[in-house]
Amino acid sequence: MTYQREQEIAIQAVREAATLCTAVQAKISSSVLEKKDKSPVTVADFGSQALVCRAIREAFPDDPIIAEEDSEALQTGDNAHLLEKVVAEVSAVRPGTGTQAVCEWIDFGGAQEYSERFWTLDPIDGTKGFLRSQQYAIALALIVDGEIVVAAMGCPNLSVAPGEETTGIIYTAVKGQGTFAVSLEGVRGEEPIRVSETTLSSQARFCESVESGHTSHNDYASVGDKLGITEEPVRLDSQCKYAVVARGEADIYLRLPTRPGYVERIWDHAAGVLVITEAGGTVTDINGKPLDFTHGAGLEENRGVIVTNGPLHEQVLDALNAVGVQ
Ligand code: AMP
Ligand code: MG
Repeated sequence: MTYQREQEIAIQAVREAATLCTAVQAKISSSVLEKKDKSPVTVADFGSQALVCRAIREAFPDDPIIAEEDSEALQTGDNAHLLEKVVAEVSAVRPGTGTQAVCEWIDFGGAQEYSERFWTLDPIDGTKGFLRSQQYAIALALIVDGEIVVAAMGCPNLSVAPGEETTGIIYTAVKGQGTFAVSLEGVRGEEPIRVSETTLSSQARFCESVESGHTSHNDYASVGDKLGITEEPVRLDSQCKYAVVARGEADIYLRLPTRPGYVERIWDHAAGVLVITEAGGTVTDINGKPLDFTHGAGLEENRGVIVTNGPLHEQVLDALNAVGVQ
């Protein structure tokens, strides 16, 4: 299987969603931020899910989609007034879309159970980053027989390549075919990307979540000391962390459990995992086990997530063991 059609549809779906997210983010004013008003991200989150699920459903009507949101939340309680805004934003990308269609499209993403072939979607990963006008990602992946086979990860605010000023890029991969950067607008050709070749842990660079509630920053510091890392970690929101390691800008991304019992969600990782492994990197949980995508929406059989360029992986697992994180 080349999954060419699946990849094309996935990239196009992520492009549409990115158009909506960028438009909504551009309207976030400082007064919205001061009020800690989360409504822009809610609007973009549901709008992005509607557009991506519509595209997948049209092309592959039998494929279930396990996505983060469902429209019930939007139609009830405090969020009800936001539905109108979601419809307006979706209509700006797909003119003539009505309320009912938007809710139906969102709910195409309502699958919960594992199946032989399904998609998983985080319509906006990194909601806090989105609100801060920093990093977020639209993360879409296809899983067949428990293996991630297609990924498209839109990163509207990430530089197109390390050190460049222009932002907005999609990373995409098909199992066995490598990871490529394609432009968000569809004008730049595909460029292959690779992880770093760093083998000395003391020369490695970490990246981690901005939010200390999502990864243990304290454990990070002890693992960093053990590995002899001197550089400050790069902090950024969302699955863009996977992209940053996949293109060699950082060497290690750790997601260290903050509390017992938290189960990582598949949509927070599936696209990123294929982007990394096809760029030559390695992903396991903190105990060295591969991530297991056969349990529905949760990575029930795993704890934490360890992402490296590959050569550093064993050293990182040993360091985790030595400082008692495992
Ligand atoms: P990040 O961008 O790295 O801060 O991660 C954002 C994601 O963290 C969100 O999409 C949530 O699904 C997820 N999340 C929420 N609570 C936790 C937690 N306690 N541990 C790990 N991840 C979490
Ligand atoms: Mg997320």
